[in-house]
Amino acid sequence: MEKERALKILTDLIAIDSANDHESLVADYLTDLFKGYDVEIERVSYAPGRDNLVITMGSHGPLLGFSGHEDVVSAGELENWQYPPFEATVQDGKIYGRGTSDMKSGLAAMVVAMLDLLDSGKELPGRIRLLASVGEETGEYGAAQLAKEGYANDLDGLIVGEPSNFDVRVTHKGVIDYYVTSKGLCVHSSTPEKGRNAIMPLVTFAQRVQEIMDRHDQKDPVLGSLTHVISQVQGGSQINSVPDSAWLSGNIRTTPLYSNDQIYQELEDLIVELNKQGAELTIRYSFPEVPLPSQAGTKLAKLAQEVVQNDFNRSYDFTAGTGATDSSEYIQAGAFPIIILGPSDGLTAHQPNEFVKVDDYLVGCQLYQAIARKFWQEYA
Ligand SMILES: [Zn+2]
Repeated sequence: MEKERALKILTDLIAIDSANDHESLVADYLTDLFKGYDVEIERVSYAPGRDNLVITMGSHGPLLGFSGHEDVVSAGELENWQYPPFEATVQDGKIYGRGTSDMKSGLAAMVVAMLDLLDSGKELPGRIRLLASVGEETGEYGAAQLAKEGYANDLDGLIVGEPSNFDVRVTHKGVIDYYVTSKGLCVHSSTPEKGRNAIMPLVTFAQRVQEIMDRHDQKDPVLGSLTHVISQVQGGSQINSVPDSAWLSGNIRTTPLYSNDQIYQELEDLIVELNKQGAELTIRYSFPEVPLPSQAGTKLAKLAQEVVQNDFNRSYDFTAGTGATDSSEYIQAGAFPIIILGPSDGLTAHQPNEFVKVDDYLVGCQLYQAIARKFWQEYA
């Protein structure tokens, strides 16, 4: 595809304000690009105006997944932007705008690669499925929905196009965010024996949970230790009343050595134990994400690394991701390998004046195509 058209696809996507919502506009735009091609297009609605999009091309052979999210984070304070966040200004070899780095450049490059392969006119030896998700930035629930509804079940491999500066990321930690709420009975603080203090069981919980998490002292060779932080505490309403409610939140970063399921069990067991002793605690979680165990030994990681190094002279080592991605959801769908690989270093992601270098984006378009071809060969 000519550079201008590839660039227009990215700038058009940036111009769509899909900050934490309105992903259907992205899905509409991408659907239009594939009109007239022999592809299967499926819309998977999460909520009104929020459609995941699945596009599958090819009729036989190994199936490679391309994963990208349609949403971006909010632009924040407009006055901090040198260029308008939703206009895709090209300046000095960079494209500025919300999502240029995270990750409409990765999404657009995957789409350009698919269109180029379709335009090659030759019968293709394999298939590609684009999984464009909603709500990645606020909980990966679009990918969770696609995984649950079976759209990843038959993949032979998956590339998540998050910014990695063309490093092949092969592992990342998981996340468990939890909230513990404590109920008590409010009375005048001069007669505390008539009430039940909601704060005290929460203090016990905080101490005990830290002890339990500290026991997970085995280190993953790349990701290091599991970490646990009690991040918020609130309770009580008046200095001379026994508090009848309190809550705290905690953030756990898990590694493949201790599964999320094991951690849930330990948290639940502690709650049951304290409740038996008279506490009234409940626990809930928000959008937990499982860790990505190292994919360094997989054929997909190795072939991607070879293409990046030999054909594009870009990356030198496998690396670990800093945060969870949609891969935390897709990994639960099957035993296929997953890597994270995309244009842009991600340093300006979620910030004002986010940008991607034009050249990096264009390299991404070529790179995804080259990897798909090699994937089809090696997984045939
Ligand atoms: Zn992202």
